[in-house]
Amino acid sequence: MAKASVRQADVKGKRCLVRVDFNVPMKNGVVTDDTRIRAALPTITYLKEQGAKVILMSHLGRPKAKVVEDLRLGPVAARLSELIGAPVKHLRDCVGEEVKTAVMAMQPGDIVLLENLRFHAEEEGNDPDFSKELASLGEVYINDAFGTAHRAHASTAGVAAFLPGYAGFLMEKELSSLGKLLESPEKPFTAVIGGAKVSDKLSVLKNLLEKVDSLVIGGGMANTFLLAQGHKVGKSLAEPGLVDEANAIMEKAKSLGKQVYLPVDVVVAPKPEVGVPVQVVPVSEIPDDQMALDIGPESRKAFAEIIKKSKTVFWNGPVGLFELEAFRGGTMEMAAAVAQVDGLSVVGGGDSLAAVEMSGLADKIGHLSTGGGASLEFLEGQVLPGVAALKDA
Ligand code: ADP
Ligand code: MG
Repeated sequence: MAKASVRQADVKGKRCLVRVDFNVPMKNGVVTDDTRIRAALPTITYLKEQGAKVILMSHLGRPKAKVVEDLRLGPVAARLSELIGAPVKHLRDCVGEEVKTAVMAMQPGDIVLLENLRFHAEEEGNDPDFSKELASLGEVYINDAFGTAHRAHASTAGVAAFLPGYAGFLMEKELSSLGKLLESPEKPFTAVIGGAKVSDKLSVLKNLLEKVDSLVIGGGMANTFLLAQGHKVGKSLAEPGLVDEANAIMEKAKSLGKQVYLPVDVVVAPKPEVGVPVQVVPVSEIPDDQMALDIGPESRKAFAEIIKKSKTVFWNGPVGLFELEAFRGGTMEMAAAVAQVDGLSVVGGGDSLAAVEMSGLADKIGHLSTGGGASLEFLEGQVLPGVAALKDA
């Protein structure tokens, strides 16, 4: 079910309580990566232009329910102010009399940023009284923090019991792109799943298997599937305890008429370090003293072909230990193939996004899902509390 958009909300002159994800890295009181702040700009700018009073709220780090000076949001307010070219007033708390007074004095177009929500235990506890107090600051609630929508906290779900809730533009984009994958993907639909471990991705693999035409498996994950096929994987990262699960997935795929593609060759080395000797071997000949750290050239070619023929592609998880240049080739070729998809391409996951950035092809990808755990839970088919709390369209 689609959710009501901020565009449908009556925001003119109204106090708009906006949950954003300003959980950004900081060093010595300066924001070192403002990607998440930039991502919220469309919603904030829209509200300001509509003459709303914009009350922003976010968490930052893990203060564990007490005030931590280094985790105050002052530097974030400063950076946002630079980006938006207007003052952003940073308040010293997120609830209480002083906050209320400051908010009630706001004029249309003003922006304030409440203090780190997680200074209060009630935030993560989704305490109803705390939610009510937060909600009393606004007249309309907007959630633009998709990345925390899988958590039922006061600011992500609780407040919606007291205010009408709308999706911000970033939230909307995540919901429409990820929703398209699950509900109406143009065929053929291919999912490329890599990364370190099967255990991290088991639920998403199972749910996507129902939706896709082809499942491409690479990275450390693939080793467990290779074990399931009876290959030896030497010292590679693998989860022998999940061989049965891997077999079950392959069986299921067969019964559903879905194609599963595994690597046919791999790049191996004695250990994941710079300067070690590397070689390419077929998956049937992984030496006992070696680790599979990237997919080989035959696998790259085959995977890229399937990807490029698809009308919808979802990619999560590097297909090799891409942090080291010697094992980055496969992942870079996957990025290049995904960038060439004539249709909807979606990439999600922290490391996958880093790999796409490295490839220099980020602007060729249809949607870069920054939701992390929330994106995966969504694709597992779970209902996210922060989404469920919003009004239906
Ligand atoms: P994402 O953050 O995009 O969801 P993951 O965290 O699941 O991705 O996986 C990324 C990690 O998987 C990277 O640190 C990468 O080095 C590792 N990885 C990929 N392939 C291998 C492999 N063959 N052996 C060991 N680690 C691997
Ligand atoms: Mg990761």
